[in-house]
Order: sequence, then structure tokens, then C-alpha cells
Amino acid sequence: MTLDLRNKMKAINFPVSFGLMALLCLLLAACRADSANDSTTRQQAGVGDTFAGQFQDNTASGDSRLLAQHSGKVQALNTVQSDISIVYPTNGLLIPAGSTFIVGSCPPGRQLQCNGADVRLNSKGYFAHVVQLKPGSNTFLVSEIGAPGQQQELTVRREMPPPVISPEQFKLAIETAQPHDDRGIAPGDFIQLSVHATPGADVKVVIGKKTIQLRPAAAVQAAVRNTKRKRKKGGTKSRLAANVNLGMDAAYGQTFQRFPGTAPDIYMGFYKVEPDDRWQEIAPKFILSKNGKSTGSAGPGRITTVFQPTLAQTRHDDTVVRLGPGASRTTPLASGVRVLVDGWQGDQLRCLYSSTHHVWIARDDLAYESDNSESGPLPQSTIRTINLLNDDYGADIVLPLSQRLPYQVDQHLKPDRLVMRIYGATADTDWVTPLVPGPKQHNLIDRVAWKQQADGVYEMTAYLKRSRQWGFKADYQGNDLHLHVKSPPSLSPIEGKRLNGLIICLDPGHGGTESGAIGCGGKREADFNLGIALKLRDLLAKEGAKVIMTRAGDTDVSLDQRVEIANQNRVDILLSIHNNALPDGRDPWAEHGTSSYWYHPQSSELAHALKQGVQQEIAFGDLATRWQNLALIRPSAELAVLAEIGFMVNPDEYAFLEQQAGQEKSAEGLLKGLLQYLSAD
Ligand SMILES: [Zn+2]
Repeated sequence: MTLDLRNKMKAINFPVSFGLMALLCLLLAACRADSANDSTTRQQAGVGDTFAGQFQDNTASGDSRLLAQHSGKVQALNTVQSDISIVYPTNGLLIPAGSTFIVGSCPPGRQLQCNGADVRLNSKGYFAHVVQLKPGSNTFLVSEIGAPGQQQELTVRREMPPPVISPEQFKLAIETAQPHDDRGIAPGDFIQLSVHATPGADVKVVIGKKTIQLRPAAAVQAAVRNTKRKRKKGGTKSRLAANVNLGMDAAYGQTFQRFPGTAPDIYMGFYKVEPDDRWQEIAPKFILSKNGKSTGSAGPGRITTVFQPTLAQTRHDDTVVRLGPGASRTTPLASGVRVLVDGWQGDQLRCLYSSTHHVWIARDDLAYESDNSESGPLPQSTIRTINLLNDDYGADIVLPLSQRLPYQVDQHLKPDRLVMRIYGATADTDWVTPLVPGPKQHNLIDRVAWKQQADGVYEMTAYLKRSRQWGFKADYQGNDLHLHVKSPPSLSPIEGKRLNGLIICLDPGHGGTESGAIGCGGKREADFNLGIALKLRDLLAKEGAKVIMTRAGDTDVSLDQRVEIANQNRVDILLSIHNNALPDGRDPWAEHGTSSYWYHPQSSELAHALKQGVQQEIAFGDLATRWQNLALIRPSAELAVLAEIGFMVNPDEYAFLEQQAGQEKSAEGLLKGLLQYLSAD
């Protein structure tokens, strides 16, 4: 989701299995995409192991709970055969929120109660009844009024953070200590330290010969509060938590503090590594003292100081590059790119792009150069020429280098341009050679400019002629770095076939063993997605478009495979079709509608048009067009949009979408949006 929580979640000290809330189907779509790194990082942080290995990158969740649900049936505790069906939640489910919703159905025209409260039903007998949860066990009886025995009993548990250590206990919860995983750090780097222990005590950390005093979170909070700050008249006071970012979570674009940052048993501090700290796999020792009693224990993470960076190379194309360990992504790298590694955290290696710019790459994605020595030729090159060529994809901007250096590409709109930064490169640029006019002249590039943005950072900007971009990708051919700019599809409408010349990939979300969200009446999101996609396929084909399907039946296709199918077929557009669900703690009657998602700026306008088109046809609520970090919209070589037509857990939207006519309307809406987008060019 929008939410880049992983980063923040990581810091949480509680060994919580608070997996993050249930359901967002679109999250699920995204989530599987990512490498195992995300989940590993999260697990190492002691957070969210419920989802470890399943959900990655930014996912505030996934339809996980519904998935679990699907495989394990709700047990009816009564002996009478009940015609009330509950699809969510399952008996015994742990729910990490103060409320949930009971989703299900009964024959139309009945009246239901849940623990004495009326249940709102739509005309099809579908319901999504919000219930509050008290800590611990909660039992609900959903029963039909005037029909004894027609009932379903359901028990769920509200999951709570672990209890705070009381002042009477003498306890050092070493398993909560940060750093939690192994670190490689250089002089000047900071180490954040924290642990849960008896309140009102003295807590220190010893690393090698250094001793660091930790402060109770409450004291830090009080100090922050008491610091005199000027505040605008009528302005609101900063609620800066002592424990900044600890327990910060977000779902569906809303950020909130899941855990108090100031629990009286949290101690925290930091240390800036000095040049004489020669540490080799040293575990910081945490020491608790109170009333003459003292205890100490080594933390789980070991620290090593790194004085010389080591050379390594990316092992494969599309190597994931992150801005922090487990944090947001930046431009993925081609294979064979040389980087300097100067630290690590768990399985993430810290790489130097420039003296002020680090990125993180998974250990498994990098190979240390064979002799593993600490010296050798630095990853450096001059750039003498920029050459402009054309090929079948579009324009091809070539920067010959003496070796493969790391790079980043940013896309901008208005004016439309692509900015490529090459790290380790120094300008000695004499020539920018123009396009050679010829049959493959695409006329995409207006001009190319370069500058030395900083020491060792070469920046090339390609200004584009058109006000709409259709794709870009960077790669190496030998040591020549290429930035490819996609030409627009050459639409040549004939005989009413308005999309003649367009290649589009349709991706019905989930499928096979992955059901996606389960709706009120028990049907699967995967099947709705496929139904809509197949109808859209026919509509598009009728208009002359060439349609590629990532799946045309109920089959398992991985997220990587889906992206691969689109890229290999060199499509113009990749459209992933989903239907949505909500996390616990929300109200499906109140929050529902159509939304669409984009990742690269080039896809934002199409995302908006598709959402508008659907809304014009089916008039669900407007849940907006949003930026999101999802696997199916991360590819840059074509336009990529993910559409969430409606909500599986909203009784009315579900009732509409389960009908063939409703799916047909949805497909027509997507077609309409696409045609509107193309006609606006
Ligand atoms: Zn989905």
C-alpha cells in the first residue's frame, strides 16, 4: 500500500505477532512480489511473524485472514443445520484491532441479530456487521429472529501487545533488545539501542570498552514535552513521541501509533561509533540495576566495525535496491554492476553510491569480487559521449563507460523528462551525438543535457518531445549504459476498431490456490477478477487490440511471472484487475468503492482515467487514484495500473459484482476509461 511501514515497523521492540490487519486484497497482490528480504528483515526485527514469508513490501496486510478462512471452515456449534453462513472471521481467529466485522449471508428476507443487536442485511441477505472487541476472548451469536436454532456462534480473540513489565518484577527482556540483528558499521555511524526492562531502574549497555546509559522512554517524552518551543498562535502542539517511529503503523493510507512509544518499561539510547571502536562481532551487553540488584545479558545482535569498504557485484538483472534496510526501493540494477559495500544489517548490505548516498542490497543479490580483497580498481569511469539511437522499442540513449556503475532513473512530468544519475562517473563529455535520421526515427527526444551533480555523480537529463510517456528501462550492453525510451503505440484504427495497434496485458489478480478476498456470499475474489478480465479481453479484441492474459483460467501464476509475461510480450499497457477488502477495525458499509493504483508517474493519468471509466459505468464510491508500491505496477517498460473495482466485503458491491451483468459493466467501464485516455492524447 501507499504505506511504507516496513521501515517503521521494524523498529518495534515487542515480539508481536500482530501481523498487521487483515484483508486488503490489493496489498496481497503487491505483497507476494517482493523478495524474501522484506519478510526476513521484519522477522528479525521481531515483528509480524504471522506474515513472515508471505507478505512483503509495504503491505499493511493482505487478504491473509480471508485466505486462512477459506481453507478452514467456520464451525457451526449448534446441531441444527443453519442457513446462516459466516465467511469472516473464522472461529478462534486472533484479531489485532479493537473491532472487526462479521461477513456472511442468509436467505433473503430474514432478520438477524448479533448478540441482541440488529444486523443490517441487504436485499440478497448479505451482511458485514461491525462488532467491538474487548481484550481476550469474544463470543458472538448470530441468530435469526423468530427461528429457534437458526444461529451461528463465533469466538475470536483480540490480540494485545505483550504486557508492560511491572515495577515489582526484576526483569530484563533481552529478546526485545535492539539492535536485534547483526550490524556492520563504520566510524561516524549511529547505533540505536533499546530494551524493555523493569521501570524505574538503571539500564546501561556495554559494547567493548564503551558504556552507554539508556533513558526510560517516559523521561525522554517528558523532556521533549518540557522543552520550551515557540508555537504559532492557535497552532497545535507537536505530539513528538519519545520513541519516534516505534510502533508507527499505517493501513489504507492512514498512519497511526499502534503501540505507545512511552511504555514505562522501554529504555533507549544511541551511540555514535568512534575510530577507536575496533569491534569484531561483539554483542552489546545490557545491564539492569535496581535497589542494589544487578543483572546483565548479551543482546541478540552482534556488531562489527568496518574500516575499509569491500567490492562486490550484482549477481543478476532486476536486483532490488533499497533506501534503507528493508525500506523503500529505488531503481533496480542490472547484473554485473560494481558497488562498494561498507556495512550491513542482518542480510542487507549497505552500498556506497557516493560519499553521502547509501543504498541497501540483499546479501544474496551481491557477489564479493573473487579475491575478496579490500582493494582493487574503484568503481569509477569518465563519460566521454552520449549517443542517441533508435530501435524497435523507441529511443536509445547510450553512455559508454569503462565498467558497470550503479545508476538511478527518475521520471518527471510537465515538462516530461527522464533523469539518470550515474554513481562513480565524472564528466569528460565532449559529444552528445544526435539521432541519425532514418526509418526508425521515433522523434521522442527533444534534447539531452548533462551535469556533474556532485563529486562522482553524473546526471543526464533527457527532455522529451511528447507530453505523454509510455515506458522506459535501463540496462547494460557490455559496459555501455542504455536508457531506453518507449515510443507510443502506433494506433491505426480501421473499420471501427479503435484499438488496432495496441498491445495490452490483462492480469486477473490471484487464482489457483490463491483465492484473494472472500466475499459476503462466499465467492472468491480470484474468480470475480477473472470474470471481469475475460469480458474485458473480448471487448478489447473487438476493438482491435492485441490482448495478452497472465492467466485465462483458475491457475497459479506468481507475481514475477505475471510481470515477465507483460515484459516479454512488449506490451503497451499492463492492467491488473482486483477486488478489494478491508483490514480489521474498519467498517465495510462505510468504506468501499472503486480505486486505482500507479507507481511510475507515467501511469498516473491512465490510472485515473480507468477509475473514472469504471465509476461512470457502475457508480460505486470514489476511493481515489493512489500511488502504491505493488509488484504489478512497478514495471517501468510499459504503463502499469492496478484497478480495484469494488469490495468483496461490502454487501451491495459484492451482490453487484457476483452477477455476470455486474462484471460486464465493470469491464465496459475499464474499456471506457482506456478509450478516454487514448482519445485525450
Ligand atoms: Zn486482490
